[in-house]
Amino acid sequence: MRVGVPKEIKNHEYRVGLTPASVAELVASGHEVLVETRAGCGIDFDDSNYVDAGATIVDTPAALFAGADMIVKVKEPQPSEIALLEPRHILFTYLHLAADRPQAEGLMKSGATCIAYETVTSANRSLPLLKPMSEVAGRMSIQVGAHYLEKEQGGRGILLGGVPGVAPARVAILGGGVAGLNAAQMAVGQRADVTIYDISNDRLAELDTYFGSQIKTAYASKAAIAAAVAGAQLVIGAVLVPGAAAPKLVTREMLRTMKRGSVIVDIAIDQGGCFETSRPTTHADPVFEEEGIIHYCVANMPGAVARTSAFALNNATLPFVLRLANLGAEAAMAADPHLANGLNVSGGRIRHQAVANALGLPL
Ligand code: NAD
Repeated sequence: MRVGVPKEIKNHEYRVGLTPASVAELVASGHEVLVETRAGCGIDFDDSNYVDAGATIVDTPAALFAGADMIVKVKEPQPSEIALLEPRHILFTYLHLAADRPQAEGLMKSGATCIAYETVTSANRSLPLLKPMSEVAGRMSIQVGAHYLEKEQGGRGILLGGVPGVAPARVAILGGGVAGLNAAQMAVGQRADVTIYDISNDRLAELDTYFGSQIKTAYASKAAIAAAVAGAQLVIGAVLVPGAAAPKLVTREMLRTMKRGSVIVDIAIDQGGCFETSRPTTHADPVFEEEGIIHYCVANMPGAVARTSAFALNNATLPFVLRLANLGAEAAMAADPHLANGLNVSGGRIRHQAVANALGLPL
């Protein structure tokens, strides 16, 4: 198959659909890979790295789409890219169609077979192509939280781990899933005083076994969350109710009980956020203050560490890219129901029940 990797054109997106190492795997399996010039330049992959991996460099998106059977990207296609899609194309990328009717209509009109990273499933009912980004965001949340606790950043002037003779900061992590666990790993590494709150008792038990005495766990009742917020210097929001908006666990009232200069990092902001006072921010202007508390609410945290994120994403997507290239979309999806769950649009129709429901369109 001829696989095409365009340069991402969404604002501030530096990740790339295939790393040179992934290209080499495809080439070794007998596939041809076209890469748009400078596709990886934002994260230090030169055209020469791709040529060394066996790719052919093309100059324009038009030439890339014309020459490829499958397009592998990171972000949802922008209107100029949708215009280049044809019924013969497979598109494999993040789509997030449920909240984007114009894109859904554009993809339906294109006739292309569009498989979304975010709805591919795994045997344990998790979302394996979303997981690496939750890992990145979870780990980053402690890094940015520690940064904004510094006095010069407007914070309370607190070192997460304290020092001998001075107590560490208290970190409350709301939601102990993928992002929450990764946040806890980093916070523990910095020697903070960490408590994870979740409503899944099974998950709390797993976390307890995993971390042992390094953290505390607590059932996420309203009262427990209120007490946690009042006593913490850093609160991480990492809850997820699949397919739904994030529950607002922390009210403005609760926030007023925190000490000025404390920090909240609302990772769940991409699902609306779990703090009443959150609103989405960008890497260009990542924080704002409400009730004297610094809010970091960047909806696309992995974009800040685009090189790490591109490798992490490729680790997860490459096995699926290889199967799609080896078998073609139809046979690959027939052989793997979890990949088939990724199908969002084909033949001019929506093919995913939840996406159809969200958009009010027929299957
Ligand atoms: P996950 O499903 O692995 O974990 C979510 C956890 O939240 C689960 O353990 C669940 O039991 C718990 N939970 C649900 N409702 C709760 C409640 N009321 N109180 C306490 N806990 C509750 O999800 P994840 O992969 O860790 O993702 C977490 C969030 O991070 C999602 O909203 C995801 O979209 C978001 N995310 C954001 C970014 C970003 O850049 N901002 C990047 C990646 C992921």
